[in-house]
Amino acid sequence: MTTPAIEGWFTTGPEPALLASSCTECGNVAFPRETGFCKNPVCSGETFDEVELSRRGRVWSYTDAQYQPPAPYIPTSDPYVPFALAAVELPEGLVVLGQLATGHGVDDVSVGSEVQLVVETLYTDDEGEKLMWKWLPIGESA
Ligand SMILES: [Zn+2]
Repeated sequence: MTTPAIEGWFTTGPEPALLASSCTECGNVAFPRETGFCKNPVCSGETFDEVELSRRGRVWSYTDAQYQPPAPYIPTSDPYVPFALAAVELPEGLVVLGQLATGHGVDDVSVGSEVQLVVETLYTDDEGEKLMWKWLPIGESA
């Protein structure tokens, strides 16, 4: 069975997308999804629509992860294998952290280069494959 490593954060169809919330009062978009109160300090909204974020964004910052990332970024392997992490700015104005797609490293991206959301197998356990979003470099880079 193939399931998301973390439920409700992204879709896994042919065109996967991150799931965000949009405040029904002020339209403030939040990822991860807001479930309590709107983060907009001048808004008292408590209800949210589910929206899919843009699948493409631009690299805002990136790094080689030489250490275990914090929750909810689940350890990918044992022993730990370093990978590249990118912070990607989406047109909605949010910056979303993610691994670079398998086979890509920091040499494939630069600040401002374009990436696209993909969903890949993060790890496999007794229940099957666990999926996670990653950023696939598509822009001209390096
Ligand atoms: Zn709001």
